[in-house]
Formats: sequence, structure tokens, C-alpha cells
Amino acid sequence: MGRLLIIGCGGVAGVAIHKCCQNSKTFSEICIASRTKAKCDALKEKLENTTETKITTAQVDADKVEELIALIQSYQPDAVLNVALPYQDLTIMDACLACKVDYIDTANYEPEDTDDKQWREIYEKRCKEAGFTAYFDYSWQWAYQEKFKEAGITALLGSGFDPGVTSVFTAYALKHYFDEIETIDILDCNGGDHGYPFATNFNPEINLREVSANGSYWENGHWVETEPMEIKREYNFPQVGEKDMYLLHHEEIESLAKNVPGVKRIRFFMTFGQSYLTHMKCLENVGMLSTSPILFEGKEIVPIQFLKALLPDPASLGPRTVGKTNIGCIFTGKKDGKEKTIYIYNVCNHQECYKEVGSQAISYTTGVPAMIGAALVVDKVWDKDGVFNIEEFDPDPFMDMLNQYGLPWVVDENPQTVE
Ligand code: NDP
Repeated sequence: MGRLLIIGCGGVAGVAIHKCCQNSKTFSEICIASRTKAKCDALKEKLENTTETKITTAQVDADKVEELIALIQSYQPDAVLNVALPYQDLTIMDACLACKVDYIDTANYEPEDTDDKQWREIYEKRCKEAGFTAYFDYSWQWAYQEKFKEAGITALLGSGFDPGVTSVFTAYALKHYFDEIETIDILDCNGGDHGYPFATNFNPEINLREVSANGSYWENGHWVETEPMEIKREYNFPQVGEKDMYLLHHEEIESLAKNVPGVKRIRFFMTFGQSYLTHMKCLENVGMLSTSPILFEGKEIVPIQFLKALLPDPASLGPRTVGKTNIGCIFTGKKDGKEKTIYIYNVCNHQECYKEVGSQAISYTTGVPAMIGAALVVDKVWDKDGVFNIEEFDPDPFMDMLNQYGLPWVVDENPQTVE
């Protein structure tokens, strides 16, 4: 029996909300609050006669801490699930802190305006000190550790798929399969086809920023940075087949490097087809991926936001997308003095997701774990004061719920490895 306030009503939120409604025992009441209330109302109308969960809706601008505080005070939730954008992480954490309410999210903080002078100064210092140049990192949210601890509340960071499930796979491997993990390769394969020449599977702004940035990996205690798409490998994914994949920087590398004792190397690879990469390079070359405002016919526009308006809404890809995703981690290390390699992965079918909740597998694979993380916090199965990445909790209840709520996983003890 719990009340969850869900902020955001996009692709990921839509799935998380469907899944909360399948888990009315934990979520007896939910409030869907977002910038565009009409979207929240439409989802409420679709779901309210299918579930015992009581659904209410609200309008909120999550960039404004005062608005969030007023909403939390009036709704009195047990926890807040942030499935808006990474730009809102800190304002929502501030509001949770002010109201002493637990917080869950799926992505680490990044600023909307990367030209902001104050932010840029801190960012440039971090690039030099830490050795990676991604716009997002955990330092902003880890800085809340003492405040959340003192307030006696939990912040669960990164309860999506990657980060999220991949981080829980790591905790599970460490708990049940290894004495020591030496290397982790996280492989994110989308073998789906939506039939458009170019579209992104989740928020285009966040997705294109991530993919066009420098790559990086963690090795022997420090970051090694690469050019975008510099490192390419091929991998034969179970149930999907042979794909090209490229090394990217990804946020869970940062937390896993901190939380997996003695780990020597962590890499992240994502699959892309040649057509996607050619489109993206072209858009980048003409300046369409820029986040800096330009003047167009007397009006200020941000190129990447204009591009977002032109691209298909990721939430609309569901009916058209066919094929499967395969996301998981290959671990090498030692157990009882012997070398060991395992691969834990999930395969998710786009069309089956669409049949069940009306969305494609990318939103599905993020929305399901968002609900599971929120459920474990609301039910106090995961209950620690402070700010924690998801791999810092007991993985077993989460792994059980993945099987129960549509993301079954496989452990392969003799997998193909990545060179
Ligand atoms: P969408 O763009 O589809 O949805 C974002 C939602 O947030 C929209 O409903 C939007 O409102 C709302 N929103 C944006 N700004 C505000 C604001 N200021 N106040 C209130 N609401 C706001 O994004 P996705 O659903 O694809 O992604 C959601 C989150 O999930 C992102 O943080 C993304 O990075 C993360 N993610 C994590 C993954 C993982 O595996 N860990 C994978 C994929 C995504 P409106 O409808 O008005 O635009």
C-alpha cells in the first residue's frame, strides 16, 4: 500500500505507469504529474478501468522547486519517481529533500544549457581532473549524500535498464558468481526496425548528445577517452544476430568503477546501423545537434530542440517497430581461484511490448525497472538513508521482479567475449 508521485509523462513514464497499475498491491495510488497535463489525463483515462490503482493527475513545471514542493505537500506521496528529463534531477531532489520524501530516477543529471557559465566552469575543472568530457556525471547528485542521510530518506539513482538493470546484473554476478570481477563489458543491442530513415528510440536531445559525444572506458583506475565511434566491434547477439557495435561513454561506468572493488576494466558498447551513423554525422556537421541558441527570423531557437520537433516522437514508434533488443553484461573474473566468464542478458521483443503496453522495447526496458526500483523503495525492501546507485542494494529482489514483470534474464556461462 503506497502512494507514488510520478513526474514526466513521456515514453518511459508511460510504461512505468502501466507497470505500476499491474502492481496495485504496492501502488494503491499514483499521481501522474507533468508539464503537459493533457498527456497525464489521457493515460489516466486509458488505464483507470483496468486497475485497482487510484490514479490522479497534476500539472507541474519540474524546473521549479517551489512548484514541486507544493505538489508533494498536497499529494503526500511515499516516494517520487522522476521519469522527466535529466535536466530536472536536481530540482526534484531538492523538493524531495525539503519534503523528506524518497527519490528514484533513471538517468544522471545533465544541464539543459551547456553554455551556462557557472556550470561550464565546474564542468571544465571536472574534465581535467576526472579525465572524461561527457556533459553528464554523478558528482552533482552524489553531492546530496550527506543531506539525504541527515533527512533520513533514500535517493535511488539509475533505475532504468542501462543504468539500472545492467548495474543490478553486476551486483548479482558479484554476489552469486564471482569472488572478484575483473572486467565488465556492457552490450546494448537494439535489433529493432521502425521503418523510418532516421529516428531516435528515446528523447532525441538526450540520445543524440550521448551518441555524438567522445567515447570512454575505465581501465586500471582511470578513464581512457576516445573519439566518437572510434572503437568498433562485431558481436553475434543471442536471438538478434551479428551487429556492429561502438564504444560509448555511459554513466554506469562511473558508479560501477566506484562500487565494484578491484575492477580492472569497464566498457560500454551500443549497436548502430550505418544509416543511423551517416544521418547523425550529417546533422552534426550542419550544426543541427547544437544546444546553443541561434537567431532565426528574429526568434531564438535551439537547433537540437528544433530537430526534436521534426523527428518522430519516440513514443509513437511502438506500432511500427519490429525485432528484438538484447542488453546485458559480460563479466570476467575469478571464483575459488579459477578464471570465469559469464554473460547475463535480457532479450525483449518490440512487438510484444507494444501489444502489452502500447510502446516499443526501449521505453519498455526502461519503464519496467523504473517501476521495480520505485516498488522496492516504497515497500522498504530497499531502505538506506542517503544517495545510492542501484548496484549498492541487494540485487535478488530486483532480479526476481524482472522475471515477474516482463524482463526475464538469462545467464550464459560460456559466452562469446569481446576482443
Ligand atoms: P520523453 O521526452 O518521452 O518524456 C519526458 C517527459 O518529461 C515528457 O512528458 C515531458 O513533458 C516531461 N518534462 C520535460 N520537462 C519537464 C518539466 N520541466 N516539467 C515537467 N515535466 C517535464 O523522454 P523519455 O521518456 O524517453 O525519457 C525519460 C527519462 O528516461 C530521461 O531522463 C531519459 O534520459 C531516461 N532514460 C533512461 C534510460 C535507462 O536505461 N536508464 C533509457 C532511456 C531513457 P512534455 O510531455 O510536456 O514534453
